Amino acid sequence: MNIILLGPPGAGKGTQASRLVERRNMVQLSTGDMLRAEKNAGTPLGDRIRAVMDAGELVPDAVVDTLIDKELARLAPDRGVIFDGYPRTLAQAQSLDRLLAAHGRALDGVIELIVDEDALVDRIAGRFSCAVCNTPYHDRYKLPAVPGVCDVCGSTEFKRRADDNEEAVRTRMAEYRAKTAPILPHYEAQGLVRRVDGMAAMDAVSAAIDRVLDAA
Ligand code: ADP
Repeated sequence: MNIILLGPPGAGKGTQASRLVERRNMVQLSTGDMLRAEKNAGTPLGDRIRAVMDAGELVPDAVVDTLIDKELARLAPDRGVIFDGYPRTLAQAQSLDRLLAAHGRALDGVIELIVDEDALVDRIAGRFSCAVCNTPYHDRYKLPAVPGVCDVCGSTEFKRRADDNEEAVRTRMAEYRAKTAPILPHYEAQGLVRRVDGMAAMDAVSAAIDRVLDAA
C-alpha cells in the first residue's frame, strides 16, 4: 500500500506517518527529513538549499524528485510507503506518477489532514525540543518544569528548527496554499482523496486514518 499524507505545515503528517510505520510496517519517506539531514551534514546540496529552507520556501522540484527516486530504488517492492511532505507541487505530483510506475508501484490513497491554519502558526512558531532526547516543548503551552532543564533526560541543551519562526511559518503556509493545495484536484480526478480532521486528538486522527486505510 502506498499513500500520501497531505496537509499544511504542522498538521501532524510526521507524527501520523511514524505511527503508521510502527503499526503497519510501512516506510516513511519525508523529503523534509531528508533535506534537513543534508543540511545538517553540510553536504554541497545541504549548503545550496539552506537559505531556501530556512526562509520556508520550496526547494527545486528536481532536487526532491531525485531524493525520492533514490529511496524508491532502495526499497523492497512489497514494502508500503507513506509519502510525507512530498509531492508539494503539481510538477512533483506528475513526477511521482512516473516514479511509481517506474518502480512498479501504484498509489492507494491521498489523505488530506484538515486543520485550522491560525492555530498551526501558533503551535509551530513556539515549538522547540530537547537536543538530546527530542522531547517536544512549547514557549507558551509546555515549558520544562525546571526552566532550562529537560523533564525527561535532564539535558540543558535545546534545539529549534531554523524555519519554525513566525515569518518562515507564514511563508510555509502561503507556499502550501499556492503550490501544494492545487495538487488535490489531480488526485481527486483519480478518486483517491480522503479527508481526515487533523484538529482532533492525535489518537483520534490515527484511528480515522486507520479506517481510511482499512477501507482502501
Ligand atoms: P513542514 O511541512 O512542517 O513545513 P517539512 O519538514 O516537510 O516541514 O519541510 C521543511 C522544508 O523543507 C520546506 O519548507 C521546504 O523548504 C523543504 N521541502 C520539504 N519537502 C519539499 C518538497 N517536496 N518540495 C520542495 N521543498 C520541500
